[in-house]
Order: sequence, then structure tokens, then C-alpha cells
Amino acid sequence: MKKTNYRILLVGNPNAGKTTVFNSLAGMRCKVGNYSGVTVERKLGAFRMQDVTVEVEDLPGIYTLSASTAEERISRDAVAEGNFDLVVNVVDSSNFERNLFFTMQLAEMKVPMIIALNMTDELEKNGRYIDWKGLSAALGVPVIKCVGYSAQSAQRLKQFIIENIDACTLAHSPWAALESNILTEKMSLLAELLKSGLPENFSEAAEWMSVRVLENDPVVMGSLKEKTPHIFDAVKSVVADFEAAADEPPEMLVAAARYKIIDKVCMPFLKTRENKQVNVTRVLDSIFLNKYIGLPLFFALMYFVFEFVFALGDPLMNIMENGFATLSGWIAALWPEGEGEMAKAFVIDGIIGGVGAVFVFLPNIILLFLALSILEDSGYMARTAFLCDRVMKRFGLSGSSVIPMLIGFGCSVPAIIGTRTLKSKFERIATIMVIPLFSCGARFPVYVLLIPVFFPEHLRGAAMFAVYMTGILAALIVAKLLRMTALRGGESSFLIELPPYRLPRIRNVFEQVATRAGGFVKKAGTVILGMSIILWTLSTFPQKKEFSQDYDAAVAAVKADAALSTVAKTDAVAQLAAKKRGEEFDHTAMGRVGNFIEPAFRPLGFDGKIVSALLASLAAKEVFITQLGIIYGIGDNTEDDAPMLRQRLAVDYSPIQGMSILLFILLTAPCIATIGTTYTETKSAAIALGQFFGLGALAYAASLAFFQTASLFIHI
Ligand code: GDP
Ligand code: MG
Repeated sequence: MKKTNYRILLVGNPNAGKTTVFNSLAGMRCKVGNYSGVTVERKLGAFRMQDVTVEVEDLPGIYTLSASTAEERISRDAVAEGNFDLVVNVVDSSNFERNLFFTMQLAEMKVPMIIALNMTDELEKNGRYIDWKGLSAALGVPVIKCVGYSAQSAQRLKQFIIENIDACTLAHSPWAALESNILTEKMSLLAELLKSGLPENFSEAAEWMSVRVLENDPVVMGSLKEKTPHIFDAVKSVVADFEAAADEPPEMLVAAARYKIIDKVCMPFLKTRENKQVNVTRVLDSIFLNKYIGLPLFFALMYFVFEFVFALGDPLMNIMENGFATLSGWIAALWPEGEGEMAKAFVIDGIIGGVGAVFVFLPNIILLFLALSILEDSGYMARTAFLCDRVMKRFGLSGSSVIPMLIGFGCSVPAIIGTRTLKSKFERIATIMVIPLFSCGARFPVYVLLIPVFFPEHLRGAAMFAVYMTGILAALIVAKLLRMTALRGGESSFLIELPPYRLPRIRNVFEQVATRAGGFVKKAGTVILGMSIILWTLSTFPQKKEFSQDYDAAVAAVKADAALSTVAKTDAVAQLAAKKRGEEFDHTAMGRVGNFIEPAFRPLGFDGKIVSALLASLAAKEVFITQLGIIYGIGDNTEDDAPMLRQRLAVDYSPIQGMSILLFILLTAPCIATIGTTYTETKSAAIALGQFFGLGALAYAASLAFFQTASLFIHI
């Protein structure tokens, strides 16, 4: 009858992953105890499969079977005693050669064994793999690949153990692989001697014992002396002969011979996948890192990203916008007629208007980060740092500043923290100062809102590209100025290891995008919701009761005017609505604050509404949209087909004003959190305040110069 109870041992080098494999084999069913007499932990467990129970023992890790410490002795004795059906040799594949040293010793002993090539994930990460079939054939031992903590891999390993537990072929003698030399000669001499002297059932052990004898293994020598005194002297004289003939200690020669066997028999099966990949990488790098076309290609890629975001994102954004409009419509319809008008306005204008105005950009955000994570995961992004190193040097920075700058396209806060890798202090501060000029993800929705208002469809991608490029250019110029004046000296060298190119892994990309999108949604639900409530309140009260003219009557008059075309009528009605909205807003708290500051910004082309939105956007740049959404939402929810925010902005602002606003948003500090991070990273209030006011002054000057110059040529 077939056996139903088996016992296996897990053996191998320390850190090969035995305990990990043990845990996934035995699951929770393990006992921990101590070996009798020593305080070394003993782990016993079991698993059941196909009506067979397999008891598993996790032995302490050892490098060699010639034992000296308590742990080594335990493992060695367990193997020598033979109280098992199978030995599972756990091998750390990423340390293949060294681990095989122990495997060779097991093979010499001809114990029934299988090899579990563990940590194959690590190995493959380095672009290598082991031809396990070849290895198995060469050693005469069943071989399986595994990953210690993978449940799937454990399942396969269990199956493999069951398959081999009854009839495991024994390993080929590793020593047969060596050409004959003095070592092998003495070994066979000793083996003959031992075979003749040992009892019949021990003759199998003659070969491995002869190796141990040459290694001067005290345990083997001791037992030979005790059990076979009649051949002991003969054995000793062979060893003495060998020692006399060799120029190194015998155990060193044995070890060297084992490594030679490993090198000859096993190492050919450790293969590198890189060859093909290296070639692909080399070809791609000759294009992407080319002196002349590398940078233009980089910019072309960025341009393509923005085109892609607009082409795919805008239709999706419209769907979101319509969704929120429909939602508002439903709520308005459900609201009891004539009751709680103020509460209704709060829900529709304050909450849905404020949060929704930002939330509709979710598809664009997802697309932007999708594109960026694909570029990153493919290995391209790391190259931009390399690519930009030379250019950066001209501006007093280096390639090391590029990585944090690229992070800055996502968010300035982690980017500023990321400058910690810069070794030169002044270079680091200069980088921190200009990071906000790399347009962050929070500004992005503002651009997506404004650009289509002022640019025709075919120019939108280009406009977005221009905005980003303006930011980068400004950053480089500011950095250069800083490095020539206050932050002179201390250049850092730049070294980067370029990863191979590879196809982006869907999971990585997906995870990154999900994290970003999740962050955006969370921000919308917290900071932006909170700001919406505050801003709605400040933008609603005090309420205006009397207007400069009777707008309702004026609208009715326009609608009744038979002399006007339909288009002209719509236009006139929109103009009247805008005027009324202006009067209403001017009366509120936010309107008054905006109007109070407005004269300072009038030369830039901003009005009170924009000023109030800019003020609010100090909390987070998206809040700029929130505030506009609230201002433009107020008082309009009674109309049936309320035009979208963009159409309303198009009525109120000229393209020159629009560009001036874009410029200002691009160049000011993104939010209070950024300035706070600068402070905590530099421990200097002067630097943090310098950044805030410096960027503010830059933005003011640029918008002023632009608006004034443009107004000279174009009259609104
Ligand atoms: P032991 O000393 O042989 O018992 O090794 P352990 O089981 O304690 O494992 C050593 C380390 O390797 C631990 O940090 C494990 O998490 C890790 N490890 C184990 N198996 C694998 C594997 O297949 N892949 C990787 N990457 N790590 C592993
Ligand atoms: Mg362990």
C-alpha cells in the first residue's frame, strides 16, 4: 500500500527563503519548539494534498555541511540521520553560485532531494533567468522555480513535492564532472578504502565521506576512528600524502574544486535576458538621447500629450458638465415650489456649482496622468533628466534638479521634498524656488477651463503647450538669475543609472493614475467643498435688493423686439444677465474685497471677480474655478438652458484678458501648502516669503507687460 505520511526537510543557506517557503507550505498549521538540549528554534508543520500528509521541518540555514555551530550541527545531523523522505533544497536564485555550494554537498551525499529555485522574481527583475530544465538534467535532480511568499507558487511546489516524494532520482555525482587531478585521485583511493572497511549498508556513503575526510571534517574523522579503527591509519596516511602534495590547505582545495564544478555544470544555465533588451534599449537611446534630436523629441512628446488630453478629454468633460447640470435640474425640480429659496441656492450654486465646477475636470486629470505614467513606466522619464543635464548646466542647475521638476508637474509639494537628493545647497534652494513654475496638476484644470474660452479648437493643444513652456522658460531664467546672484557656487555632479526601456506595465500605470485621481477626488470632497461653502456665503451676502435698472423688464423688452434676429436677441439677453450678475456680485462681501483690490490689478486686465477668484485660489489653485463657478452660478438657476461656465466667461472677458489671467495663474505660487513646504524644507522664513512674493511679483510684472503691450495693438 502507498504511504500516506511523509516527512520532508527544508534546507539551504541562511536567507534563501526557507522560512517563507515553510510558512506558505504549512500555512498556519505549524508548531514551534526547541531542539532538545539547545535553544535553537524548531519549526514543524504539515500540509495535506491528495490524501497524503506531508510533515515539513524548517531547518536553520547553513553554508556547509561540515558543521561547527549548534545551528549548523542541527541541520547537518538532520540530513545525515536520513529520517526523511525528501530534502527540499531552497536556493536563492539571485545568489545562485554561492547557494549552489551547499547544493553540491547535498548532491554528493546522494540524499533524495529536489531543488526549489526561490526568489526567481528578484532574479528576473535583473533581467536574468535560470534554465531549470537544463539544470535538472545536468544535476540529475528535480528542479522547480518558486517565489517564497506566493500562494500560487506554494501550490505548485506542493504538487511537485508529492510527485517526487516516492521515487526521487538521486543526483549525479558532481565530482564526476571534474577532470582527474590529484584531488580526485586521492578521493577515489579513499573511497575504495572506505568501501572495503565500512559495513555493507554504508558503502553508498563512501564517496561523500572521502570528500569529508579530505576536508578534515572532525565529525567524520571521529566516527571513522571509533567505528573502523582497522582502516583509520591507512585513511590518515592518504590524507597526509595529499596535504604534502598540495600547496594549500585541503579544505580550500576542496572548496575551490566545488566552485569549479558549479562553474562548469551549473552556471551555463543562469541566463541573461538582457541581450535582446539591451539592444532595443541601445537603439532607442540612440534616438531619444541623440544630441540633436533628443530634446526636440521630448518637446514633441509633451506637445502630443497635451493634444491627446484635449482631444479625448474635452468630450468627456462635457459629459461630466451635462451630468452636473442635469443633477442641478433634478434638485431644482424636486425642491418644493417657493420654499427655502436660499437653501436651494446653497445646494445648487454653492455645493454643486462650486465642487462640480472643479470635479468635471476629472477625465482630463486622468488622461494627463495616464500619459505621464506611461512615459515614466516605459523608462523614458528617467532619460529626460539625462537629456536635460547639459541644458540645465547653462542655467546653473544640473540633471539632478530635473527629477524633482518633473514631479512638479504633478504637485509642487512632493517636488520640493524631492530636492533633498541634491547635494549642493545653493543649487537645491534655486531648484526649490523655481519648482512652482513647473505647472502643477492643480493649475491644469484652470487651463483646461480657460483655454477653450479664448482659443479656437485647433489651437488648444498648442496653447496648453505654450503655457507649460512659458513656465519652464521662466523657471530656467529665474534659476539662472538666482545662481548668478544670491545663490552662487556649489555645482553638483550628476550621475544616473538609466533603466532599460520596456512596455509600460498596465498595473503600475493604473495604480499611479488611480492614486492621482483619488487624490483629486479627495481634494474636491474636502478642501474644495469647504472652500465652496465659505466662498458661496461670502459671494452671496449681503444681497442686493435694488438694481440700477429693471433687468427683468429689459429682458422682456429685448425678447419682444421684432426687429432683432434670434442671435442678436440671445446676445443681448446674455449681456443683460452679465451686467446684472456684476451688480449683484459687487454688493457681496467677496465682491467688495475684490473691488477694493481691483484697482491694483486693473492694469493687468482683471476685474473684481477675477481678483476675488485669485484670492480664493491661494488655498488651492482649483478653487479659482470654484469661485468663478459660484459667481456665475448665482441667480441663474431659474433659466432653462443655463449656458456653461465657459460661455459666460467668453461674454465677460476678451482673449487678451484671458491670456493675462493664464499668465498670472502660471507664475504665482500654486498654493499656501507649497510655501509651507518650502519653509519646512529650508527652515528659512526669508526663503519661503521670498518665494511667495517673488513669484507674485514675477506674475504681476509678466501679466502687466503682456496686457499693456497687447492692448496697444488690439483694441477690445
Ligand atoms: P531563511 O533565512 O532561509 O528562513 O529566509 P527567510 O524565509 O527568512 O527569507 C529571507 C528574506 O527573503 C525575507 O525577507 C523574505 O521575505 C524574502 N523572500 C523569501 N522568499 C522570497 C522570494 O521568493 N522572493 C523575494 N523577492 N523575496 C523572498
Ligand atoms: Mg529561517
